Amino acid sequence: MVSTNLSAASRQPEIIAVANQKGGVGKTTTAINLATALAAIKKDVLLIDMDPQGNASTGLGRERNDRDDSSYEVIMGEVSLAEAIVDTIVPGLHLVPSTIDLAGAELELVDAEQRTFRLRRAFRDPVLENYDYVLIDCPPSLNLLTLNTLAAAHSVLVPLQCEFFALEGLSLLLQTIETVKANFNPSLEVGGIILTMFDSRNNLSEQVAADVRNFLGDKVFKTIIPRNVRVSEAPSYGRPVLLYDLKCSGSQAYLELAAEMLKRSKKARAA
Ligand code: ADP
Ligand code: MG
Repeated sequence: MVSTNLSAASRQPEIIAVANQKGGVGKTTTAINLATALAAIKKDVLLIDMDPQGNASTGLGRERNDRDDSSYEVIMGEVSLAEAIVDTIVPGLHLVPSTIDLAGAELELVDAEQRTFRLRRAFRDPVLENYDYVLIDCPPSLNLLTLNTLAAAHSVLVPLQCEFFALEGLSLLLQTIETVKANFNPSLEVGGIILTMFDSRNNLSEQVAADVRNFLGDKVFKTIIPRNVRVSEAPSYGRPVLLYDLKCSGSQAYLELAAEMLKRSKKARAA
């Protein structure tokens, strides 16, 4: 239909990095399930796996032996973004998978010109007009891959596990975001902090949540992702938890998070 094509041609996706240099805080889980929740409400979504561990790719059912062109080839400029995009089991959600090759990219790019802007350059691809949202799953470090992601994104979502050292790591990440803003990407914003793996039986979870809200106020999403065993089981079936068990508390929380995010970005656009 012509009208669909016209609107598609003028579309600019919101590009969102999911980052925290700490491992195991729920970045990949959030990237997969927020992307799935957005696709479930009829948004066109692209998830880019920028972690050499490839957990987002596996979690979306893309087996290691079934990955051809990946984020590595995109970063190295060997293929276009469009060429690396594949379907997933989730209708409306596409993926750029990663492979372990990506672990070598940092060294290989040491002397490359504009090495922090490789991903941004790949985003000149008109294929982005097909999407409403691009989510990028970052590795657990503040390395060149994360810098490439932050330099190419509009905003950063920060999953934060409700545990004792959470705030300490957060300060370092916020400093890095300031450095990226000053040097590479002035319009980068903190889209929000997402409290993950919240355990209501644990007083520490409550305390950490209260401290984080004190420190960052409105930047913290109201939606809290509970610790839920169904969330941790889903990846071994190669499925987002929303497809594995829609009714469980984890799936419901990710749907709520997507709704809250949409509401926030509408508000930001109106302001
Ligand atoms: P990261 O990408 O930050 O390293 P992951 O998303 O891979 O973190 O999560 C780390 C581990 O915790 C994984 O095994 C994942 O299945 C599990 N996990 C993440 N979120 C939840 C949750 N809400 N409830 C239970 N387990 C979770
Ligand atoms: Mg991960």
